[in-house]
Amino acid sequence: MTHYRIQTLQPSNGFVQIHMQFRATTDVVYLQLPAWRPGRYELANYARNIKNFNIKSETGEAIPFSKINKEKWAVSITPHTNVLVSYEYYAQQPDAGNSFVSEQLCYINPVNCLLYVEGMEQLPCQVELPLTPTAKVACQLNLNGNKLLAKHFDELADSPFFIAENLQHHTIQHGTCLFHFWAAGPVELDWNQLKSDTIRYATIQEAIFGVLPMTDFHFLYLFREDVFRHGVEHASSTVIAMGPGKSMCETIAYNDLLAISSHELFHVWNIKRMRPVEMLPYDFTKENYSKLGYVYEGITTYYGDLALVQAGVWNLATYFKSLSDDFKKHLNNQGRFNYSLEDSSFDTWVDGYVPGVPGRKISIYTEGLVAALVADLFILSQTKGAYRLDQVLSEMYQLTYVQQKGYTKALYQQLLEKWSGQSMQWYFNQLIEGKGKLTDALIEALSWIGCELETHFNDLGLIDCQLKIKDNRSTEQELLFKKWLNLTASA
Ligand SMILES: [Zn+2]
Repeated sequence: MTHYRIQTLQPSNGFVQIHMQFRATTDVVYLQLPAWRPGRYELANYARNIKNFNIKSETGEAIPFSKINKEKWAVSITPHTNVLVSYEYYAQQPDAGNSFVSEQLCYINPVNCLLYVEGMEQLPCQVELPLTPTAKVACQLNLNGNKLLAKHFDELADSPFFIAENLQHHTIQHGTCLFHFWAAGPVELDWNQLKSDTIRYATIQEAIFGVLPMTDFHFLYLFREDVFRHGVEHASSTVIAMGPGKSMCETIAYNDLLAISSHELFHVWNIKRMRPVEMLPYDFTKENYSKLGYVYEGITTYYGDLALVQAGVWNLATYFKSLSDDFKKHLNNQGRFNYSLEDSSFDTWVDGYVPGVPGRKISIYTEGLVAALVADLFILSQTKGAYRLDQVLSEMYQLTYVQQKGYTKALYQQLLEKWSGQSMQWYFNQLIEGKGKLTDALIEALSWIGCELETHFNDLGLIDCQLKIKDNRSTEQELLFKKWLNLTASA
């Protein structure tokens, strides 16, 4: 068991105090701080937030240590000694993947700030929280008294939490799963509407995989006063930082809140459970390179919005506007001629989350969505609406997560070919490994459902783009279009 204790002695100075206790079993132990966090595929440098690092025995004697890289410490010790590690962590980043402490809120992402002992990752972990009698705790982990319990470090690292006196908490039961909605920060929102819309899109997502694989799911909403948008997925929760919270009752902001929430829920299956073989398990010590970002982010970006229109939560105009915005981003990125989708996935570890050098690369989110849409429409058109990408995902989930395996590009290709009944070598050669072919494939795929892109240059010299239904679409195209969006025949 590794025991952690968190204190917020003076939250106004931005630091939390962290104490870690474990029993050494060898004469040298290595302490590791995660070098990155799942959901953001680049190195993080969390160690720069640590100060006053010290190690003692249980009798209070200082234990010498040395750093062997920027987030790893070596400690020489007598075996069977209880070791106490203490430090302060600067928690002043109120986004969905970092930590933030104030007088009102203690928000911790353990993956940022808790160390683990190399070789002891599989042992249970316990986190003692700084709770007042009236404080509320939002977390996917079980709370026992004032302690959160995790089966192992990996589960702890995946379990951010909010502690506050004035957290809003709403719930709704859906089948075997209780959905929790926690809100920190100022917000104006129709919670009953959000609850019912959540159930509607969750039902669509659940139908793809045939199972909702958790008994509780927690939306941890951090509402800010500025314009902000960031979400991070976890196995049975998500943190979503949005702002301004006071605008969440307005249609555009509310639709965006639904979009990010639906995206993060889809990750419950696609990345938190079904995962590329090279990320199973996650290695917190270094880069976890994968060329499959178009599966775990591209398909998720595609289905996040698709589930909203299929559920009737979004109308067609809202969905078309969202897709048009994505296509606009795609058309204005010259990187589509310079870099392939799979190489762009690999290179999130280089520059994935900043604009980077103009025209250097493409996005596993935007271009990944385009590739997912083309795959879905290809299967739909080849099978006259009998099958689609849903069947590929469902079978891949059964063959990988359910059998405790990761997926590979070869398996994904094999399943696309099985459900389309066609070779899809062209798809991988041109859209995944090739450059500059996504746009033509997108335009062709849209024609199968009787849609087209209307484009023109705006005053800034950028391409504006609108997705439209063709006036003269055939009955066959119309039927496929309705199948695509789950619209009833009379819609
Ligand atoms: Zn995502």
